[in-house]
Amino acid sequence: MIDNLFNMLLLAKQEPLVESETVAEVVDVATEAVSSFSADSWANLGYLAAAILFILGIKGMTHPRTAVRGNMLGAVGMLVAVLVVLLSGNVVSWPVAFVAMLAGSAGGVWLANTVQMTQMPQLVALFNGFGGIASVLVAGAELIKVSNPGVAGVAAGLTGLIGSVTFTGSLIAAGKLQELPQFKKPWSFGGQQFVSLGLLLLGLLLSWMMADGTGVEFVFLVLASLVLGAMLVLPIGGADMPVVIALLNSYSGLAAAAAGFVISNNVLIIAGSLVGASGLILTQIMCKAMNRSLANVLFAKFEASGPVADADDVYAGKIKSTSADEVAMLLEGGQRVIFVPGYGLAVAQAQHAVRELADLLEASGVTVEYAIHPVAGRMPGHMNVLLAEADVPYDQLKEMDEINPTFSQCDVAIVIGANDVVNPVANTDPTSPIAGMPILEVSEARTVIMIKRSLSPGFAGIPNPLFAADNCLMLFGDGKKVLVDIVAAFKEA
Ligand code: NDP
Repeated sequence: MIDNLFNMLLLAKQEPLVESETVAEVVDVATEAVSSFSADSWANLGYLAAAILFILGIKGMTHPRTAVRGNMLGAVGMLVAVLVVLLSGNVVSWPVAFVAMLAGSAGGVWLANTVQMTQMPQLVALFNGFGGIASVLVAGAELIKVSNPGVAGVAAGLTGLIGSVTFTGSLIAAGKLQELPQFKKPWSFGGQQFVSLGLLLLGLLLSWMMADGTGVEFVFLVLASLVLGAMLVLPIGGADMPVVIALLNSYSGLAAAAAGFVISNNVLIIAGSLVGASGLILTQIMCKAMNRSLANVLFAKFEASGPVADADDVYAGKIKSTSADEVAMLLEGGQRVIFVPGYGLAVAQAQHAVRELADLLEASGVTVEYAIHPVAGRMPGHMNVLLAEADVPYDQLKEMDEINPTFSQCDVAIVIGANDVVNPVANTDPTSPIAGMPILEVSEARTVIMIKRSLSPGFAGIPNPLFAADNCLMLFGDGKKVLVDIVAAFKEA
Protein backbone atom coordinates (compact mmCIF):
# COMPACT_ATOMS: atom_id res chain seq x y z
CA MET A 1 0.00 0.00 0.00
CA ILE A 2 2.78 2.42 0.90
CA ASP A 3 4.61 1.44 -2.31
CA ASN A 4 1.47 2.19 -4.25
CA LEU A 5 1.11 5.61 -2.69
CA PHE A 6 4.78 6.33 -3.22
CA ASN A 7 4.54 5.43 -6.92
CA MET A 8 1.50 7.64 -7.33
CA LEU A 9 3.32 10.54 -5.76
CA LEU A 10 6.36 9.94 -7.97
CA LEU A 11 4.14 9.91 -11.03
CA ALA A 12 2.42 13.07 -9.89
CA LYS A 13 5.80 14.75 -9.50
CA GLN A 14 6.87 13.80 -13.02
CA GLU A 15 3.54 14.80 -14.61
CA PRO A 16 2.20 17.94 -12.95
CA LEU A 17 -1.23 17.43 -11.39
CA VAL A 18 -3.55 19.21 -13.75
CA GLU A 19 -6.32 16.65 -13.83
CA SER A 20 -8.53 16.82 -10.75
CA GLU A 21 -9.16 13.03 -11.05
CA THR A 22 -5.46 12.42 -10.52
CA VAL A 23 -5.52 14.51 -7.36
CA ALA A 24 -8.58 12.66 -6.13
CA GLU A 25 -6.87 9.35 -6.93
CA VAL A 26 -3.79 10.32 -4.91
CA VAL A 27 -5.95 11.41 -1.99
CA ASP A 28 -7.89 8.14 -2.16
CA VAL A 29 -4.74 6.03 -2.15
CA ALA A 30 -3.28 8.13 0.68
CA THR A 31 -6.45 7.77 2.76
CA GLU A 32 -6.51 4.05 2.10
CA ALA A 33 -2.83 3.74 3.06
CA VAL A 34 -3.32 5.70 6.25
CA SER A 35 -6.44 3.80 7.26
CA SER A 36 -4.65 0.48 6.69
CA PHE A 37 -1.97 1.49 9.25
CA SER A 38 -1.99 -0.77 12.26
CA ALA A 39 -1.41 0.57 15.78
CA ASP A 40 2.13 -0.83 15.56
CA SER A 41 2.82 1.05 12.33
CA TRP A 42 1.68 4.30 13.94
CA ALA A 43 3.85 3.61 16.97
CA ASN A 44 6.86 2.87 14.76
CA LEU A 45 6.24 6.07 12.81
CA GLY A 46 6.21 7.98 16.11
CA TYR A 47 9.43 6.23 17.17
CA LEU A 48 10.99 7.14 13.83
CA ALA A 49 10.09 10.79 14.43
CA ALA A 50 11.57 10.59 17.94
CA ALA A 51 14.76 8.97 16.60
CA ILE A 52 15.15 11.70 13.96
CA LEU A 53 14.71 14.34 16.68
CA PHE A 54 17.35 12.60 18.85
CA ILE A 55 19.84 12.56 15.97
CA LEU A 56 19.17 16.21 15.11
CA GLY A 57 19.49 16.99 18.83
CA ILE A 58 22.91 15.32 19.07
CA LYS A 59 24.00 17.06 15.88
CA GLY A 60 22.94 20.40 17.42
CA MET A 61 24.97 19.68 20.52
CA THR A 62 28.20 19.40 18.54
CA HIS A 63 28.56 23.20 18.59
CA PRO A 64 27.96 25.65 21.45
CA ARG A 65 26.00 27.94 19.12
CA THR A 66 23.40 25.25 18.33
CA ALA A 67 23.59 23.35 21.63
CA VAL A 68 20.47 24.88 23.23
CA ARG A 69 18.39 24.09 20.13
CA GLY A 70 19.90 20.59 20.08
CA ASN A 71 18.91 20.07 23.68
CA MET A 72 15.34 21.20 22.94
CA LEU A 73 15.08 18.86 19.94
CA GLY A 74 16.29 15.94 22.07
CA ALA A 75 13.76 16.79 24.80
CA VAL A 76 10.91 17.01 22.26
CA GLY A 77 12.05 13.66 20.82
CA MET A 78 11.84 12.13 24.30
CA LEU A 79 8.36 13.62 24.80
CA VAL A 80 7.24 12.10 21.49
CA ALA A 81 8.69 8.72 22.51
CA VAL A 82 6.94 8.80 25.91
CA LEU A 83 3.61 9.83 24.38
CA VAL A 84 3.82 7.09 21.76
CA VAL A 85 4.53 4.49 24.46
CA LEU A 86 1.58 5.74 26.52
CA LEU A 87 -0.78 5.79 23.54
CA SER A 88 0.33 2.49 22.05
CA GLY A 89 -1.99 0.50 24.32
CA ASN A 90 0.80 -1.37 26.15
CA VAL A 91 0.37 0.37 29.48
CA VAL A 92 -0.30 -2.36 32.03
CA SER A 93 -1.81 -0.07 34.66
CA TRP A 94 -2.62 3.59 34.10
CA PRO A 95 -2.76 4.48 37.81
CA VAL A 96 0.69 2.94 38.41
CA ALA A 97 2.12 4.69 35.34
CA PHE A 98 0.55 7.98 36.44
CA VAL A 99 1.88 7.77 40.01
CA ALA A 100 5.37 6.78 38.73
CA MET A 101 5.45 9.72 36.31
CA LEU A 102 4.22 12.10 38.97
CA ALA A 103 6.85 10.89 41.46
CA GLY A 104 9.61 11.06 38.80
CA SER A 105 8.62 14.56 37.71
CA ALA A 106 8.40 15.80 41.31
CA GLY A 107 11.88 14.34 42.00
CA GLY A 108 13.23 15.98 38.83
CA VAL A 109 11.81 19.39 39.71
CA TRP A 110 13.12 19.11 43.28
CA LEU A 111 16.61 18.14 42.07
CA ALA A 112 16.69 20.89 39.44
CA ASN A 113 15.84 23.46 42.11
CA THR A 114 18.11 22.25 44.88
CA VAL A 115 21.27 20.88 43.26
CA GLN A 116 24.07 23.44 43.08
CA MET A 117 25.71 24.04 39.71
CA THR A 118 28.96 22.62 41.13
CA GLN A 119 27.12 19.37 41.96
CA MET A 120 25.93 18.83 38.38
CA PRO A 121 28.71 16.33 37.55
CA GLN A 122 27.71 14.14 40.51
CA LEU A 123 24.07 14.42 39.46
CA VAL A 124 24.90 13.39 35.89
CA ALA A 125 26.82 10.40 37.30
CA LEU A 126 23.77 9.46 39.40
CA PHE A 127 21.49 9.78 36.34
CA ASN A 128 23.75 7.32 34.50
CA GLY A 129 23.45 4.92 37.42
CA PHE A 130 19.66 5.27 37.65
CA GLY A 131 19.41 4.66 33.89
CA GLY A 132 21.44 1.46 34.33
CA ILE A 133 19.37 0.08 37.20
CA ALA A 134 16.09 1.04 35.47
CA SER A 135 17.12 -1.11 32.50
CA VAL A 136 17.96 -3.98 34.86
CA LEU A 137 14.50 -3.75 36.47
CA VAL A 138 12.75 -3.66 33.08
CA ALA A 139 14.66 -6.73 31.91
CA GLY A 140 14.03 -8.54 35.21
CA ALA A 141 10.28 -7.79 35.12
CA GLU A 142 10.07 -9.12 31.57
CA LEU A 143 11.90 -12.31 32.55
CA ILE A 144 9.33 -13.06 35.25
CA LYS A 145 6.62 -13.09 32.56
CA VAL A 146 8.24 -15.57 30.15
CA SER A 147 9.25 -19.17 30.77
CA ASN A 148 11.64 -19.87 27.88
CA PRO A 149 12.98 -16.47 26.87
CA GLY A 150 15.55 -17.59 24.22
CA VAL A 151 17.42 -14.68 22.60
CA ALA A 152 15.44 -12.19 24.70
CA GLY A 153 16.82 -14.00 27.77
CA VAL A 154 20.40 -13.43 26.59
CA ALA A 155 19.54 -9.76 25.98
CA ALA A 156 18.06 -9.62 29.50
CA GLY A 157 21.27 -11.14 30.85
CA LEU A 158 23.40 -8.53 29.07
CA THR A 159 21.07 -5.81 30.37
CA GLY A 160 21.53 -7.16 33.90
CA LEU A 161 25.31 -7.25 33.45
CA ILE A 162 25.84 -3.81 31.89
CA GLY A 163 23.08 -2.06 33.84
CA SER A 164 24.30 -3.31 37.22
CA VAL A 165 27.93 -2.43 36.46
CA THR A 166 26.69 1.05 35.47
CA PHE A 167 24.70 1.38 38.68
CA THR A 168 27.40 0.67 41.28
CA GLY A 169 30.13 2.19 39.10
CA SER A 170 28.16 5.43 38.81
CA LEU A 171 27.35 5.58 42.53
CA ILE A 172 31.05 5.30 43.34
CA ALA A 173 31.94 7.80 40.60
CA ALA A 174 29.41 10.25 42.12
CA GLY A 175 31.04 9.70 45.52
CA LYS A 176 34.48 10.42 44.04
CA LEU A 177 33.21 13.57 42.30
CA GLN A 178 31.64 14.68 45.60
CA GLU A 179 35.13 14.08 47.04
CA LEU A 180 33.69 11.93 49.84
CA PRO A 181 36.61 10.81 52.04
CA GLN A 182 35.58 7.13 51.66
CA PHE A 183 36.03 7.24 47.88
CA LYS A 184 38.60 10.00 47.42
CA LYS A 185 41.61 7.68 47.40
CA PRO A 186 41.86 4.86 44.84
CA TRP A 187 41.21 1.52 46.56
CA SER A 188 42.40 -1.85 45.33
CA PHE A 189 43.89 -5.14 46.53
CA GLY A 190 46.37 -7.57 45.06
CA GLY A 191 44.88 -9.59 42.19
CA GLN A 192 41.88 -7.26 41.90
CA GLN A 193 42.10 -7.27 38.12
CA PHE A 194 41.82 -11.07 38.06
CA VAL A 195 38.78 -10.98 40.36
CA SER A 196 37.19 -8.38 38.04
CA LEU A 197 37.99 -10.51 35.00
CA GLY A 198 36.50 -13.56 36.74
CA LEU A 199 33.30 -11.64 37.55
CA LEU A 200 33.06 -10.39 33.98
CA LEU A 201 33.41 -13.93 32.58
CA LEU A 202 30.86 -15.20 35.10
CA GLY A 203 28.49 -12.40 34.04
CA LEU A 204 28.89 -13.30 30.36
CA LEU A 205 28.37 -17.01 31.08
CA LEU A 206 25.22 -16.34 33.12
CA SER A 207 23.95 -14.01 30.38
CA TRP A 208 24.38 -16.82 27.85
CA MET A 209 22.58 -19.23 30.18
CA MET A 210 19.66 -16.83 30.44
CA ALA A 211 18.38 -18.17 27.07
CA ASP A 212 16.54 -20.77 29.12
CA GLY A 213 17.23 -19.31 32.50
CA THR A 214 15.01 -18.14 35.32
CA GLY A 215 14.87 -15.24 37.72
CA VAL A 216 17.30 -17.06 40.06
CA GLU A 217 20.19 -16.93 37.56
CA PHE A 218 19.27 -13.34 36.83
CA VAL A 219 19.54 -12.39 40.52
CA PHE A 220 23.00 -14.04 40.72
CA LEU A 221 24.05 -12.25 37.56
CA VAL A 222 22.90 -8.89 38.90
CA LEU A 223 24.66 -9.40 42.25
CA ALA A 224 27.95 -10.39 40.57
CA SER A 225 27.70 -7.42 38.20
CA LEU A 226 27.00 -4.97 41.03
CA VAL A 227 30.24 -6.11 42.68
CA LEU A 228 32.04 -5.87 39.32
CA GLY A 229 30.89 -2.24 38.87
CA ALA A 230 32.36 -1.34 42.25
CA MET A 231 35.61 -3.24 41.49
CA LEU A 232 36.05 -1.40 38.22
CA VAL A 233 35.65 2.13 39.59
CA LEU A 234 37.06 1.92 43.14
CA PRO A 235 40.72 1.64 42.00
CA ILE A 236 40.43 4.74 39.83
CA GLY A 237 41.52 8.09 41.11
CA GLY A 238 43.43 11.16 40.13
CA ALA A 239 42.83 12.31 36.63
CA ASP A 240 41.30 9.14 35.16
CA MET A 241 37.76 9.98 36.28
CA PRO A 242 36.73 11.87 33.09
CA VAL A 243 37.28 8.69 31.07
CA VAL A 244 35.26 6.66 33.58
CA ILE A 245 32.37 9.15 33.58
CA ALA A 246 32.17 9.07 29.77
CA LEU A 247 32.42 5.26 29.73
CA LEU A 248 29.65 4.84 32.34
CA ASN A 249 27.49 7.17 30.27
CA SER A 250 28.04 4.90 27.31
CA TYR A 251 27.29 1.78 29.40
CA SER A 252 23.96 3.26 30.53
CA GLY A 253 22.99 3.64 26.86
CA LEU A 254 24.08 0.10 26.00
CA ALA A 255 22.03 -1.26 28.93
CA ALA A 256 18.97 0.62 27.66
CA ALA A 257 19.52 -0.69 24.11
CA ALA A 258 19.77 -4.27 25.43
CA ALA A 259 16.57 -3.72 27.46
CA GLY A 260 14.95 -2.52 24.22
CA PHE A 261 15.67 -5.95 22.69
CA VAL A 262 14.17 -7.66 25.75
CA ILE A 263 10.84 -5.83 25.49
CA SER A 264 11.01 -5.39 21.66
CA ASN A 265 10.82 -1.63 21.89
CA ASN A 266 12.38 0.10 18.90
CA VAL A 267 12.77 3.54 20.41
CA LEU A 268 14.61 2.14 23.42
CA ILE A 269 16.99 0.29 21.09
CA ILE A 270 17.58 3.43 19.01
CA ALA A 271 17.92 5.87 21.94
CA GLY A 272 20.12 3.44 23.87
CA SER A 273 22.38 2.86 20.86
CA LEU A 274 22.71 6.62 20.33
CA VAL A 275 23.72 7.17 23.96
CA GLY A 276 26.04 4.15 23.82
CA ALA A 277 27.74 5.29 20.62
CA SER A 278 28.02 8.97 21.56
CA GLY A 279 29.31 7.97 25.00
CA LEU A 280 32.00 5.85 23.36
CA ILE A 281 33.01 8.76 21.12
CA LEU A 282 33.19 10.99 24.21
CA THR A 283 35.26 8.31 25.93
CA GLN A 284 37.69 8.40 23.05
CA ILE A 285 37.91 12.20 23.24
CA MET A 286 38.57 11.95 26.98
CA CYS A 287 41.16 9.20 26.41
CA LYS A 288 42.96 11.51 24.00
CA ALA A 289 42.77 14.34 26.54
CA MET A 290 44.26 12.06 29.20
CA ASN A 291 46.70 10.45 26.78
CA ARG A 292 45.40 6.94 27.50
CA SER A 293 44.34 4.27 25.03
CA LEU A 294 40.73 3.06 24.98
CA ALA A 295 41.94 -0.55 25.31
CA ASN A 296 43.82 0.44 28.45
CA VAL A 297 40.66 1.93 29.93
CA LEU A 298 38.37 -0.91 28.78
CA PHE A 299 40.56 -3.53 30.39
CA ALA A 300 40.74 -1.42 33.53
CA LYS A 301 44.50 -1.50 33.72
CA PHE A 302 44.68 1.47 36.04
CA GLU A 303 48.14 1.66 37.43
CA ALA A 304 48.94 2.67 40.98
CA SER A 305 50.73 5.96 41.23
CA GLY A 306 53.95 6.62 43.09
CA PRO A 307 54.40 8.59 46.34
CA VAL A 308 53.02 12.13 46.31
CA ALA A 309 55.62 14.90 46.66
CA ASP A 310 55.52 16.86 49.90
CA ALA A 311 53.91 20.28 49.38
CA ASP A 312 56.39 21.96 51.75
CA ASP A 313 59.32 20.73 49.66
CA VAL A 314 57.73 22.05 46.50
CA TYR A 315 56.61 25.45 47.78
CA ALA A 316 58.82 26.44 50.75
CA GLY A 317 60.27 29.94 50.24
CA LYS A 318 59.37 30.00 46.54
CA ILE A 319 55.81 31.39 46.50
CA LYS A 320 55.29 35.02 45.43
CA SER A 321 51.88 36.52 46.02
CA THR A 322 50.34 39.56 44.39
CA SER A 323 47.32 41.86 44.73
CA ALA A 324 44.39 42.92 42.54
CA ASP A 325 45.96 46.40 42.10
CA GLU A 326 49.27 44.93 40.89
CA VAL A 327 47.48 42.63 38.47
CA ALA A 328 45.42 45.55 37.09
CA MET A 329 48.67 47.45 36.42
CA LEU A 330 50.18 44.41 34.74
CA LEU A 331 47.12 44.04 32.53
CA GLU A 332 47.24 47.69 31.49
CA GLY A 333 50.59 47.15 29.81
CA GLY A 334 49.53 43.88 28.13
CA GLN A 335 48.69 43.19 24.49
CA ARG A 336 47.39 39.65 24.76
CA VAL A 337 45.76 38.00 27.78
CA ILE A 338 44.64 34.38 28.05
CA PHE A 339 42.16 33.28 30.72
CA VAL A 340 42.53 29.66 31.85
CA PRO A 341 39.37 28.52 33.65
CA GLY A 342 39.17 25.43 35.83
CA TYR A 343 36.92 23.79 38.40
CA GLY A 344 37.40 26.75 40.82
CA LEU A 345 35.64 29.02 38.30
CA ALA A 346 32.54 26.84 38.73
CA VAL A 347 32.86 26.84 42.52
CA ALA A 348 33.26 30.63 42.64
CA GLN A 349 30.59 31.17 39.93
CA ALA A 350 33.02 33.69 38.51
CA GLN A 351 32.00 33.37 34.85
CA HIS A 352 30.24 36.75 34.71
CA ALA A 353 33.10 38.50 36.52
CA VAL A 354 35.65 37.08 34.07
CA ARG A 355 33.51 38.26 31.16
CA GLU A 356 33.34 41.76 32.67
CA LEU A 357 37.12 41.90 33.00
CA ALA A 358 37.53 40.57 29.46
CA ASP A 359 35.18 43.28 28.11
CA LEU A 360 37.19 45.98 29.87
CA LEU A 361 40.46 44.62 28.50
CA GLU A 362 39.08 44.39 24.97
CA ALA A 363 37.76 47.94 25.20
CA SER A 364 41.30 49.08 25.95
CA GLY A 365 42.70 47.20 22.93
CA VAL A 366 43.91 43.97 24.59
CA THR A 367 43.35 40.68 22.72
CA VAL A 368 41.52 38.24 24.99
CA GLU A 369 41.21 34.46 24.62
CA TYR A 370 40.16 31.54 26.81
CA ALA A 371 42.18 28.30 26.93
CA ILE A 372 39.86 25.31 27.34
CA HIS A 373 41.33 22.02 28.55
CA PRO A 374 39.08 19.05 27.64
CA VAL A 375 39.01 17.74 31.24
CA ALA A 376 38.90 21.07 33.09
CA GLY A 377 36.13 21.10 35.69
CA ARG A 378 34.28 17.95 36.68
CA MET A 379 32.38 16.99 33.53
CA PRO A 380 33.02 17.09 29.79
CA GLY A 381 32.27 20.56 28.42
CA HIS A 382 32.03 22.05 31.95
CA MET A 383 33.96 25.22 31.07
CA ASN A 384 32.07 25.73 27.79
CA VAL A 385 28.76 25.58 29.65
CA LEU A 386 29.89 28.10 32.29
CA LEU A 387 31.36 30.56 29.80
CA ALA A 388 28.34 30.26 27.50
CA GLU A 389 26.20 31.25 30.50
CA ALA A 390 28.14 34.53 30.60
CA ASP A 391 27.78 34.96 26.81
CA VAL A 392 31.50 34.75 26.17
CA PRO A 393 31.94 34.83 22.37
CA TYR A 394 32.54 31.27 21.09
CA ASP A 395 35.37 32.32 18.80
CA GLN A 396 37.40 33.36 21.86
CA LEU A 397 37.30 29.81 23.28
CA LYS A 398 40.44 28.01 22.12
CA GLU A 399 41.05 24.30 22.47
CA MET A 400 44.28 23.04 24.02
CA ASP A 401 46.01 22.02 20.77
CA GLU A 402 45.27 25.40 19.22
CA ILE A 403 46.25 27.63 22.14
CA ASN A 404 49.30 25.80 23.50
CA PRO A 405 51.76 26.91 20.78
CA THR A 406 50.68 30.53 21.36
CA PHE A 407 51.25 30.89 25.12
CA SER A 408 54.76 32.19 24.42
CA GLN A 409 53.20 35.21 22.70
CA CYS A 410 50.96 35.93 25.67
CA ASP A 411 51.69 38.73 28.16
CA VAL A 412 49.55 37.51 31.02
CA ALA A 413 47.92 34.10 31.52
CA ILE A 414 45.26 34.35 34.25
CA VAL A 415 44.50 30.93 35.70
CA ILE A 416 41.17 30.97 37.55
CA GLY A 417 40.62 27.93 39.75
CA ALA A 418 42.47 25.54 37.43
CA ASN A 419 45.17 23.35 38.92
CA ASP A 420 45.65 19.81 37.53
CA VAL A 421 45.17 20.93 33.93
CA VAL A 422 48.16 23.30 34.23
CA ASN A 423 50.34 21.10 36.45
CA PRO A 424 53.73 20.52 34.75
CA VAL A 425 54.23 17.36 36.84
CA ALA A 426 52.14 15.61 34.15
CA ASN A 427 55.15 16.02 31.84
CA THR A 428 57.92 15.39 34.34
CA ASP A 429 56.87 12.67 36.81
CA PRO A 430 55.90 9.32 35.24
CA THR A 431 54.60 8.04 38.61
CA SER A 432 52.20 10.91 39.20
CA PRO A 433 48.43 10.25 38.92
CA ILE A 434 48.27 12.72 36.01
CA ALA A 435 51.40 11.38 34.24
CA GLY A 436 51.22 11.79 30.48
CA MET A 437 48.15 14.05 30.53
CA PRO A 438 48.67 16.92 28.08
CA ILE A 439 48.45 20.21 29.99
CA LEU A 440 47.86 23.84 29.10
CA GLU A 441 51.40 25.20 28.85
CA VAL A 442 50.70 28.42 30.78
CA SER A 443 54.27 28.66 32.10
CA GLU A 444 55.30 29.74 28.57
CA ALA A 445 53.44 33.03 29.09
CA ARG A 446 55.45 36.07 30.20
CA THR A 447 53.55 36.24 33.51
CA VAL A 448 51.19 33.71 35.07
CA ILE A 449 48.59 34.85 37.63
CA MET A 450 47.17 31.93 39.65
CA ILE A 451 43.84 32.83 41.23
CA LYS A 452 42.86 30.38 43.98
CA ARG A 453 42.13 30.46 47.67
CA SER A 454 45.17 28.60 48.99
CA LEU A 455 47.97 26.25 47.98
CA SER A 456 45.57 23.28 48.19
CA PRO A 457 45.87 20.65 45.48
CA GLY A 458 43.31 20.00 42.73
CA PHE A 459 41.29 16.82 42.10
CA ALA A 460 44.41 14.67 41.62
CA GLY A 461 45.62 15.63 45.11
CA ILE A 462 49.19 16.56 44.17
CA PRO A 463 51.26 19.75 44.63
CA ASN A 464 51.75 21.97 41.59
CA PRO A 465 55.33 23.24 41.01
CA LEU A 466 53.94 25.91 38.68
CA PHE A 467 52.99 27.94 41.78
CA ALA A 468 56.69 28.19 42.61
CA ALA A 469 57.81 29.09 39.06
CA ASP A 470 59.76 32.35 38.55
CA ASN A 471 57.06 33.91 36.34
CA CYS A 472 54.12 32.85 38.51
CA LEU A 473 52.33 35.16 40.96
CA MET A 474 49.71 33.79 43.33
CA LEU A 475 46.57 35.88 43.86
CA PHE A 476 44.86 34.26 46.83
CA GLY A 477 41.10 34.56 47.28
CA ASP A 478 37.73 33.43 46.00
CA GLY A 479 37.77 33.55 42.19
CA LYS A 480 34.75 35.84 41.83
CA LYS A 481 35.78 38.29 44.54
CA VAL A 482 39.32 38.56 43.21
CA LEU A 483 38.10 39.21 39.64
CA VAL A 484 35.65 41.86 40.86
CA ASP A 485 38.57 43.52 42.71
CA ILE A 486 40.73 43.46 39.56
CA VAL A 487 37.88 45.01 37.55
CA ALA A 488 37.52 47.80 40.14
CA ALA A 489 41.29 48.41 40.20
CA PHE A 490 41.47 48.40 36.38
CA LYS A 491 38.67 50.97 36.18
CA GLU A 492 40.42 53.21 38.70
CA ALA A 493 43.83 52.99 37.07
P1 NDP B 1 41.34 21.06 39.85
O1 NDP B 1 40.37 20.19 40.55
O2 NDP B 1 42.66 20.50 39.52
O3 NDP B 1 41.62 22.38 40.73
C1 NDP B 1 40.60 23.23 41.08
C2 NDP B 1 41.21 24.34 41.92
O4 NDP B 1 40.20 25.31 42.09
C3 NDP B 1 41.62 23.88 43.31
O5 NDP B 1 43.01 23.74 43.40
C4 NDP B 1 41.06 24.95 44.24
O6 NDP B 1 42.11 25.53 45.01
C5 NDP B 1 40.49 26.00 43.29
N1 NDP B 1 39.25 26.56 43.79
C6 NDP B 1 38.21 25.94 44.36
N2 NDP B 1 37.27 26.81 44.71
C7 NDP B 1 37.71 28.03 44.33
C8 NDP B 1 37.18 29.34 44.44
N3 NDP B 1 36.00 29.59 45.02
N4 NDP B 1 37.91 30.35 43.94
C9 NDP B 1 39.11 30.13 43.38
N5 NDP B 1 39.66 28.91 43.26
C10 NDP B 1 38.97 27.87 43.75
O7 NDP B 1 40.60 21.64 38.58
P2 NDP B 1 41.02 21.56 37.03
O8 NDP B 1 39.86 22.12 36.32
O9 NDP B 1 42.37 22.15 36.82
O10 NDP B 1 41.18 20.01 36.73
C11 NDP B 1 40.06 19.14 36.70
C12 NDP B 1 40.38 17.87 37.45
O11 NDP B 1 39.17 17.15 37.66
C13 NDP B 1 41.33 16.97 36.68
O12 NDP B 1 42.13 16.24 37.56
C14 NDP B 1 40.34 16.05 35.96
O13 NDP B 1 40.92 14.82 35.60
C15 NDP B 1 39.30 15.86 37.05
N6 NDP B 1 38.00 15.44 36.53
C16 NDP B 1 37.49 16.00 35.41
C17 NDP B 1 36.30 15.57 34.89
C18 NDP B 1 35.79 16.13 33.60
O14 NDP B 1 35.03 15.44 32.90
N7 NDP B 1 36.15 17.34 33.25
C19 NDP B 1 35.50 14.51 35.56
C20 NDP B 1 36.10 14.04 36.78
C21 NDP B 1 37.30 14.49 37.23
P3 NDP B 1 41.78 26.25 46.40
O15 NDP B 1 41.04 25.27 47.23
O16 NDP B 1 43.13 26.60 46.93
O17 NDP B 1 40.97 27.46 46.10
